[in-house]
Amino acid sequence: MNAPTHPDYEVVIGLEVHCQLRTRTKLFTGAPVRFGEPPNQDTSPVCLGLPGALPVLNGYAVELAARAALATGGEVQPDSVFARKNYFYPDLPKGYQISQFEHPLSLGGYVEIDVAGGDGPRRIGLTRIHMEEDAGKSIHDGAVEETHVDLNRSGVPLMEIVSEPEMRSPEEAGAYLRALHEIVRWVGASDADMEKGQFRCDANVSLRPHGATALGTRTELKNLNSFRYIEEAIHAEVKRQAALLDSGGEVVQETWGWDADAGRAFVMRGKENADDYRYFPDPDLIPLTLSEEAIEAIRTALPELPGARRARFEQAYGLPADQVQVLTASRELADFFEAVAEASGAARAAANWVARDVQAALREADRDVAQSAATPQSIGVLIGMVESGRITAKSGRDLLPELLTEGGDPEALVAERGLETVSDAGELERWIDDALAAHPKAVASYADGDKKSLNFLMGQVMRASQGKADPGRVRTLLAERLDAGGAA
Ligand code: ADP
Ligand code: MG
Repeated sequence: MNAPTHPDYEVVIGLEVHCQLRTRTKLFTGAPVRFGEPPNQDTSPVCLGLPGALPVLNGYAVELAARAALATGGEVQPDSVFARKNYFYPDLPKGYQISQFEHPLSLGGYVEIDVAGGDGPRRIGLTRIHMEEDAGKSIHDGAVEETHVDLNRSGVPLMEIVSEPEMRSPEEAGAYLRALHEIVRWVGASDADMEKGQFRCDANVSLRPHGATALGTRTELKNLNSFRYIEEAIHAEVKRQAALLDSGGEVVQETWGWDADAGRAFVMRGKENADDYRYFPDPDLIPLTLSEEAIEAIRTALPELPGARRARFEQAYGLPADQVQVLTASRELADFFEAVAEASGAARAAANWVARDVQAALREADRDVAQSAATPQSIGVLIGMVESGRITAKSGRDLLPELLTEGGDPEALVAERGLETVSDAGELERWIDDALAAHPKAVASYADGDKKSLNFLMGQVMRASQGKADPGRVRTLLAERLDAGGAA
């Protein structure tokens, strides 16, 4: 176990994550899913809740949620049911939200976390994943005491991923969310852009004495939308509950909002119990059935998952774990690296180039790997030329940014610009002659025992050759000359 985050109490955390599925249209209508449009542009009779409008399920949303479920080891159910969750809110024109309740899309599964300073990887169980539609948004204009309603988000497809109460520290909660965030993006189920509200977390937090088996009373912290806020908010809530319990008080089950600016929580409402919503199966929608074949087809099409991929990169290519972490920051980058490795015929060198030089050049150009103008094959060819000594590492690094931003054929560029490594002794000797003639002091201090002068003179020769001289040959020839007192 990790060190307890509180000496007197065990911290218990369960998380509910609302994650927007990566569809072009809404869950029950063809209205578009976009971001930042003027209010009420992306609507249809179904998301406006007009009488008589009938919902039709978006099959692709189901596939995306099933991908996430299978990627986390969940059991996708052959039958699930959409229900009406009834409540009144101005941004909910139907008076109910369509969600899944008794029969969710998926049961079970887990997310693996590995917290720094912990005892190694640990699985956090998932209770369920269900699908639901998002509500609209109320915009409160305090200046004129008016509330406006924007229904662009009404009906946007979400999945809710509910964890078991198995996290024991804010850091574990953070690790769980980062791992889950990575998986849903990796399998293409969601863009999970937290700034656009596509990945939102409610944290349930309770304390109990160490060794107790019964759960303590929980509070729920609503709509936390950054990993850092979540950890901060849970820390603060643990402190609050502990102080309350220490002073003989009781925790009241209620819902809190988190004020990130003030760094403190505020009570939103007493917690409703589930039956307040009077859930019942939506009579407008037939039960969702998925055949075994359909589920298996989705499973088979899943990409290799991040954990498996990291293990394979370490083993197959003999790469260190921290470098693998860099190379698997996204699926696109991992794919890119593997294609570069194959084309270069030198995986370890490819790993160094991609993790360091390629990343740096892309950052400089303000692009990510998906926006690279170079194919991974061409980068692989470039690295292969460096590895075989056809061009120097310096020439390779000089060509890289241009390839990544403008593309092109490295073979042709090398030929066109005469970048082939010069290792012909005659040519090298000419640069060496010049360097020795221009720097008699360095030659003299080498003779006096200052061997570092060799590096200085190396630099001069490399500069004169515009980085094309074969550095190994230059070093050998130069040392011979200097050992002979500079004579040709
Ligand atoms: P609700 O929708 O009422 O919040 P759910 O059962 O859907 O209830 O979700 C409850 C979430 O709270 C789950 O993630 C669960 O693990 C977590 N949870 C339940 N009881 C506790 C508790 N005593 N302490 C911490 N987390 C809890
Ligand atoms: Mg809840």
